[in-house]
Amino acid sequence: MALTESRKAELAERVSAGERLTRRDGEDLYAADDLAWLGGLAHSVRTAKNGDVTYFNVNRHLNLTNVCSASCAYCSFQRKPGQKDAYTMRVEEAVQKALSLKDEGLTELHIVNGLHPTLPWRYYPRVLRELKAALPEVALKAFTATEVHWFEKISGLSADDILDELMDAGLESLTGGGAEIFDWEVRQQIVDHATHWEDWSRIHRLAHKKGLKTPATMLYGHIEEPRHRVDHVLRLRELQDETGGFQVFIPLRFHNDNNKLSHLPMAQPSDVLRTFAVSRLMLDNFPHVKVFWVMHGLSTSQLALNWGADDMDGSVVEYKITHDADGFGTPDKLTRDDLLGLIRDAGFRPVERNTRYEVLREFGGPVPLAERRAEPQDIWT
Ligand code: SF4
Repeated sequence: MALTESRKAELAERVSAGERLTRRDGEDLYAADDLAWLGGLAHSVRTAKNGDVTYFNVNRHLNLTNVCSASCAYCSFQRKPGQKDAYTMRVEEAVQKALSLKDEGLTELHIVNGLHPTLPWRYYPRVLRELKAALPEVALKAFTATEVHWFEKISGLSADDILDELMDAGLESLTGGGAEIFDWEVRQQIVDHATHWEDWSRIHRLAHKKGLKTPATMLYGHIEEPRHRVDHVLRLRELQDETGGFQVFIPLRFHNDNNKLSHLPMAQPSDVLRTFAVSRLMLDNFPHVKVFWVMHGLSTSQLALNWGADDMDGSVVEYKITHDADGFGTPDKLTRDDLLGLIRDAGFRPVERNTRYEVLREFGGPVPLAERRAEPQDIWT
């Protein structure tokens, strides 16, 4: 249902006054058929928070094992023990893989894994310790709340003790995965592990209490409806009011290859942009919204920067989780120069950050149109 002009004017006025939006506002924003108007609202908030900057970092995604006890309906990554393509890295292999990236200006390793049925708990802090010894200058962003909950189960330890040990081994941040959609009606149909909102939020709350900053994600574009997306971000907003420990919100587009939901169509670019815009508008206490280009494609990611996102995930050299869902056609890595070009072409000024969003390097912004137009004349003079 299209919004009336008076409702649009009211929402625009409240956004410009910095008023907090309600559940009903969020649901109405999803129903707005004027995508440009919605983008304009989100862009005004994005610009007020982050100016003309688009952040990126140079990272590598490392998946230690794809063997998983669960079979989530949306997952293209997991394999069962003994299945073709199932793998588990020895600690030395993980270190070797990370060391091969040493000269690429890497500042962060992003580590997520399947819930391996027989790997012992002590494997995980040992991997972190060895990675940190090999690459002391690289931040380790590792494990979803689902994995931490799994570690509780296989170790008999509390999340409190687990986080202490992982932090002692070099953990700098949890990852934001395992969130999917928190609403139980949806969740029970697609999630096959035991970690739901109660444990996900408990573990992030604990991490924040210990001084870790974490991201939060949302897997969208499958069986959920817009109201479930609104509910998802409202839960996160409330938790952020309490802890202040979330740095960034990351919408992740569901991919329909090689999983139990392959019959579903994927979210169209207009739905992607709507999701970024409404998320930016609802999450008034989140400093950043990130677009993960591996899941959205390069052109749509550039557009998302104008619909609320202010961060593009960095030079991903290898990212198995999405690329086992083949056929999407996105490259599996971008260099720093690739990223600079994409960000400038979208109209923003690239800034390289580290895991804590501290600025490492600033770059020049887009070349003004007038200068670009002058180029062909220069060739002939
Ligand atoms: S989403 Fe995670 S927990 Fe679920 S099947 Fe895939 S790897 Fe396992």
